[in-house]
Amino acid sequence: MFDLTGKTALVTGGSRGLGRAIALAMAGQGADVAINYRGNGEAAEEVAGQVRELGRRAVTVQGDTAAGREACDAIAKTAIEELGPIHILVNNAGITRDNLLMRMDAEEWEAVIDTNLSGPFWMTRAIARPMMKARGGRIINMSSAAGRMGNAGQANYAAAKAGLIGLTKTTARELASRGITCNAIAPGLITTDLTADLPEAATDALKAMTPLGYIGSVDDVAAAAVYLASDEARYVTGQVIGVDGGIVMGS
Ligand code: NAD
Repeated sequence: MFDLTGKTALVTGGSRGLGRAIALAMAGQGADVAINYRGNGEAAEEVAGQVRELGRRAVTVQGDTAAGREACDAIAKTAIEELGPIHILVNNAGITRDNLLMRMDAEEWEAVIDTNLSGPFWMTRAIARPMMKARGGRIINMSSAAGRMGNAGQANYAAAKAGLIGLTKTTARELASRGITCNAIAPGLITTDLTADLPEAATDALKAMTPLGYIGSVDDVAAAAVYLASDEARYVTGQVIGVDGGIVMGS
């Protein structure tokens, strides 16, 4: 089930956290993986090494997905030159710059919009053309429960993640006729470096709001990504899959 043999994935922000887990889970199911990273080449190489230990091909691709069209085109070009056609794009790279709405400055707003929304847009633009020619592909966007329900202190993050859901649905509609699916995963609270600095009170409050009552693991999210990337998910597009312990129950 969910065999990804013969597929190649490009995972943005793949050197740690959810991106790392997704890269390894996809390699575990047979995919070759291009691991994009911004700063930590050593961590990206460690992930690539683990992919190779699984018997799959791996490359690391340095590049800042928030830096606009040219930077994203360059990431896509390098990945394709090194590994061949990309069948699966995982727009995972993301940041937080939390502040209350009335205190949030332009840098905090723009950095999060550039990374969490414009990055996936330009990466999709870069990868969709070869996918369209190949008449198939999978695009997976890492949204967030915060984008579905809002979150005090995260106006920038929630707006970007909600925007990413709109981008997902539009991409799904525009590219469906070419056999390309596009879906979003909306994790709740997952233990990674991104959430490590959350105050205990905030973590406890989120746990209390989560029907399943505990914090998720990166593997919970990676499993959903593997499914969405698989041939078995061919009839699923434009969806938002909550991997969130039930904190959001959408219709
Ligand atoms: P993380 O901080 O551990 O990892 C994010 C990765 O993205 C890092 O490797 C970082 O270097 C990379 N990155 C950031 N900006 C980049 C850029 N401009 N170019 C290239 N790489 C860049 O965070 P994580 O928890 O693994 O989050 C991964 C994704 O999942 C993010 O989009 C995040 O918003 C989303 N998410 C996480 C949670 C959670 O609870 N951890 C919940 C919902 C959504």
